Amino acid sequence: MPQNARRSDTITEQQRLAAIERLAVTYTPAEECFDRVTRLAARIFATPIATLSVVGDQRVWFKSRVGTVISELPRTDTFSNWVMDHDGALLIPDALADPIFARGAMVINAPYARFYAGIAIRSPNGAKVGSLSVMDTEPRHHSAIDIGFLRDLAAITEDEFHRRQLTASQKSMITELGEAQRRAMMDDLTSVWNRSGLDSILEREFAQASASEQPISVAMLDIDHFKKINDIYGHDAGDLALAEVARRLRAAARPVDSVTRYGGEEFAVVLPDCDEQSAQAVGDRLRACIAATPVTVGNSTYVDITASVGVATAKPNTVISLLLTRADGALYDAKRNGRDCVFAAPATIGCG
Ligand code: GH3
Ligand code: MG
Ligand code: MG
Repeated sequence: MPQNARRSDTITEQQRLAAIERLAVTYTPAEECFDRVTRLAARIFATPIATLSVVGDQRVWFKSRVGTVISELPRTDTFSNWVMDHDGALLIPDALADPIFARGAMVINAPYARFYAGIAIRSPNGAKVGSLSVMDTEPRHHSAIDIGFLRDLAAITEDEFHRRQLTASQKSMITELGEAQRRAMMDDLTSVWNRSGLDSILEREFAQASASEQPISVAMLDIDHFKKINDIYGHDAGDLALAEVARRLRAAARPVDSVTRYGGEEFAVVLPDCDEQSAQAVGDRLRACIAATPVTVGNSTYVDITASVGVATAKPNTVISLLLTRADGALYDAKRNGRDCVFAAPATIGCG
């Protein structure tokens, strides 16, 4: 059916939720292809906030967000909930002046939205699974927004969902773990897997690497002198910097790689099918993407950030924890040798 838009009228809530389940997207790490769309939406409409949300049974979860750190909300607190029952785009020039929305959670609390425009994102069978939204903290006139652009961006988002290709390990993280387990493995601030997510993805990637007899590498990154950023600009600015570093790592990594938050200001990137030589080069690409341009930490404040990187490569059938220990050792060497550089762990014969 070419016009899937029309089919949604006959789609039940149960079918809609099943379509979300099939997309395998809730409580998964942010992906550059979707972040690109929300970034573009915020730029095109000149709004401080843009989100791509998935409207679940009880909760709305943000797959991508610009200008807000909210990762999920009760469904009834969101504008996206209304988009599910709305044909075409939902436009609210001034939420505070609207009897339905004036007391909304996103209006009276951060991000203090006044203007809202949102359009449904549909699954291949036409079910409305979420919305692409832009928000401003100032009211706007209806005519100030070209809905055609929002429609185009929604179509691009839907195409990205169809095109999306996950590795076997990424897929198994999503299909074998329930929503609650995945939720516990996500780092809300940076939208990447947390330490326990790292353990799970490493186990899966190691099994894949053993089966295919491919090498596997890990890059460990630690932001240099991060304490100073907190001390000078405040903890919230530090949080923004961490989220931006994670975003840059995602953009610089291959889609098959997994970016994870190892701890405070440390990240581990799992690199399947990556030998020693490539690991050094990838490590340097990750290092360079952080140092390349200053990071915005709010209100036109830009900070130069660098990170030190340690990489280690394992042969299949070796001990996972040893790989992390070796990468950590290499990271320590990078710190001792002046920071903002990459060191590789020496190859070991026969063990991880
Ligand atoms: P080095 O170059 O040796 O790594 O120096 P550093 O300052 O980065 O390292 P140190 O271990 O002394 O400090 C790490 C800092 O990271 C201290 C801690 O408050 C900060 N940090 C850890 N987690 C978070 C977080 O979630 N948000 C913010 N804003 N800061 C964090
Ligand atoms: Mg550290
Ligand atoms: Mg540090």
